[in-house]
Amino acid sequence: MRKPIIAGNWKMYKTLSEAKEFVEEVKGLVPDADKVDSVICAPALYLQQLVASTESSSLQIGAQTMHEEKEGAFTGEISAAQLAGIKVNYVIIGHSERRQYFNETDQSVNKKVHAAFENGLTPIMCVGETLEQRENGETGSVVEAQVEAGLAGLSEQQAGQLVIAYEPIWAIGTGKTATAQDANEVCGIIRNKVASLFNDGIAQQVRIQYGGSVKPANIEELLGMEHIDGALVGGASLETDSFVKLLEAG
Ligand code: PGA
Repeated sequence: MRKPIIAGNWKMYKTLSEAKEFVEEVKGLVPDADKVDSVICAPALYLQQLVASTESSSLQIGAQTMHEEKEGAFTGEISAAQLAGIKVNYVIIGHSERRQYFNETDQSVNKKVHAAFENGLTPIMCVGETLEQRENGETGSVVEAQVEAGLAGLSEQQAGQLVIAYEPIWAIGTGKTATAQDANEVCGIIRNKVASLFNDGIAQQVRIQYGGSVKPANIEELLGMEHIDGALVGGASLETDSFVKLLEAG
């Protein structure tokens, strides 16, 4: 049995006081860590404070991106070691907004996945097709190629610990959710791909989230699907009520 993982992706929302207020309100309402992994991926400059304020809670804190290099002259960037140094547990890698606006490629995603593991962080690696690719019947091949490139060179142990988020780009922030059946089908394709790259045991271990307009009204149906082990949530993670409902469904 794979433990569900529900992760909020706050993107570039919330001031520090709003972030602190949210976490204070939610941290006591989070389900037990043995039932579901509950994560908030917050803006980088709040991470240290949020880690400190959730120390005795099951709520875990993640970053939304990081640089692939260990250190160096990369003005404005943050490394995996720096995140690990402030006890961040998770990092989103290759979100479609990063791929679209910040030139992230399958190759840089792969480097970041390696850097995350080397520093003890769990990567949440995002994959997903555009609307045009879906309409052209390319969803399976696009997602398989992203998985193959993203996982290149990982050990079996690392691959088994990875979280993959399937996020169809046309469903992000649009209110359009993939049907639970469609989402499950693609998550199944991803799992098969992991099996072919590694083996069945690893494929059964890897957790696959769905993301794209997940909300309390649709999470149960999505999580009821064979291959969907959690959700990566933007909009509905910004309000305490809806985020807690999502965690409770996990
Ligand atoms: P959304 O965003 O839930 O607002 O669609 C999901 C995401 O970008 O991870």
